[in-house]
Amino acid sequence: MSARNILVVNCGSSSIKFALVNEAHSQFPLSGLAERLGTADAVLHWQRSSGEKDSMLIPNADHRAALSQLLPMVNSVAGGQLHGIGHRVVHGGEFFTQATRIDHKVLSAISATAPLAPLHNPANLQGIEAAMKLFPCLPHVAVFDTAFHQTLPEHAFRYALPDHLYRQHGVRRYGFHGTSHRFVSHRAASMANLAVGDSSWLSAHLGNGCSTCAIVNGQSRDTSMGLTPLEGVAMGTRSGDVDPNLHSHLARALGWNLEQIDRMLNNDSGVKGLSGLSNDMRTLEQAREQGHAGATLAIEVFCYRVAKSLAAMACALSQLDGLIFTGGIGENSPLIRRKIVEHLRLFNLELDSEANARCIRGVSGFIQAYGRPRVLVVPTNEERQIALDTLGLLDA
Ligand code: ADP
Repeated sequence: MSARNILVVNCGSSSIKFALVNEAHSQFPLSGLAERLGTADAVLHWQRSSGEKDSMLIPNADHRAALSQLLPMVNSVAGGQLHGIGHRVVHGGEFFTQATRIDHKVLSAISATAPLAPLHNPANLQGIEAAMKLFPCLPHVAVFDTAFHQTLPEHAFRYALPDHLYRQHGVRRYGFHGTSHRFVSHRAASMANLAVGDSSWLSAHLGNGCSTCAIVNGQSRDTSMGLTPLEGVAMGTRSGDVDPNLHSHLARALGWNLEQIDRMLNNDSGVKGLSGLSNDMRTLEQAREQGHAGATLAIEVFCYRVAKSLAAMACALSQLDGLIFTGGIGENSPLIRRKIVEHLRLFNLELDSEANARCIRGVSGFIQAYGRPRVLVVPTNEERQIALDTLGLLDA
């Protein structure tokens, strides 16, 4: 049988990220982004594995119109051989513990989970429905960000809140970035010549969104994000953990309403809020070099909070086979990795500065100093994992 092609689709409220994944090649034959959907400026960008890039205006296109522009392109690059579509879905609630072939029941269940992810799940659904109409004969698979964390023990996923909030309203910790933590822990095990089913990892996914995870024998045992992707470490624009009384304090002291507080915590906080400059770690590192006090503080708080979260995740492990860095920051910033590891001396962690400097721009490897516990840089590849999960279901 020749190598199969899967189209991976990730729909946001006004965007679609896509990648054509071929099971035999590490590079995507075609990938791209449709953005500003539903506006006069809607545009489709794409890139071939040769590096050749192009874009096309698709004024007022919605998800379906953008996908219908994509179809001929994907088909021609795949030589008419597309075998399935993998859809990233942010929230699977407690219903979905693994990737699932999509049918009407699954669509209803994703829709029922929308109150837990009001920004994400409706957009994901829009994309799925449009793609199913355009490609009715292909198998469609949903891969959930939350599914990997459904193995958390109850003492890790419950909040110390009245029981009925969990039983009747699903208020619990779900965790996100599961596809990424799963992918990098499998890669780390193979790099270290260990069986994933018999190894223990700490993982730090540091991108615009950031989370940590404890992975034991291939299962997530704890993670820093909770009911929503706001909990946990400080991020690009998200606060991470704050005192839960902050809401009532701001309402009383400043007269803010829930919408203002939500916006502040999700869009104006994190390293952007602290620095007053940017949510982009590259910009902050450059500004720090030039003595910018806000950027310096933002980086210090970010690193301390990630380290503190990793130390907390260690409660879920009985041994540590390695600490994994991934995501745009984790894969590319020797400075951030060094600063995080400096806070984890109690775990005997220390980096080799040359190896740390070398692992950037897609280079994976071990970066610990000689004789110290493993620290690895592992580029994540959520699209590939989604394609593998989709193929896994086609084979089942
Ligand atoms: P997303 O969560 O949107 O997928 P990414 O995983 O691409 O985001 O991560 C984006 C973050 O990675 C940004 O803060 C960006 O500044 C950071 N980043 C990318 N390259 C570098 C670099 N060379 N040094 C420091 N940070 C970097």
